[in-house]
Amino acid sequence: MRVVLLGPPGAGKGTQAQVIAGRLGVPAISTGDIFRANVSGQTELGKQAKSYMDAGDLVPDEITVAMVKDRLAETDAKGGFLLDGFPRTIAQGEQLRGSLQELGHHLDCVLELVVDEDELVRRLSGRRMLVDGEWVQRDDDKPETVRHRLEVYREQTAPLSGFYASEGLLAQIDAIGSIEEVTARAMAALERPGQSDDS
Ligand code: AMP
Repeated sequence: MRVVLLGPPGAGKGTQAQVIAGRLGVPAISTGDIFRANVSGQTELGKQAKSYMDAGDLVPDEITVAMVKDRLAETDAKGGFLLDGFPRTIAQGEQLRGSLQELGHHLDCVLELVVDEDELVRRLSGRRMLVDGEWVQRDDDKPETVRHRLEVYREQTAPLSGFYASEGLLAQIDAIGSIEEVTARAMAALERPGQSDDS
């Protein structure tokens, strides 16, 4: 299956991506994780991406699209994938559609995790990740940057919801609840793309 996980920062995409991809037997591909690994490794790509990430802005499409194209060409992604954090602009969505078409493939479903904004701010400001045995806050989870990332989401990424709905691929699910509850909704939605979750 070829699936895109859509949703604002703090909706739980990273966690759900791992669980759902495991259930589907496909790799979870997170553009944020790839960028962060490149920043830590101080690669050329990491150097290009860092200032945008620190400011809570999107890394320019041409850098991101080329990176995803390379990643999707890897062997493990040939039979399917779950994309977490890509596409994030309509232009990226169009590029993805084009790259898949060239390979004779298409997306099967776009799962959108829906969470209201107050809950997102609460989750993001409390979020910590484990680095070298210590719990640290991501630089882009600081309150000022969080507000900006949510604005960027509203303006540049949220329109993808309509873009995919018009293709009959969108399944929206309520992402408030335990990890298991949200996964169960996601797995049910994957069986009926194009319809929204009313629970
Ligand atoms: P994430 O872990 O998905 O929240 O991504 C962290 C940061 O990486 C974002 O705030 C962006 O700066 C960058 N990023 C991740 N995915 C993309 C994308 N598809 N397009 C542009 N920038 C991205």
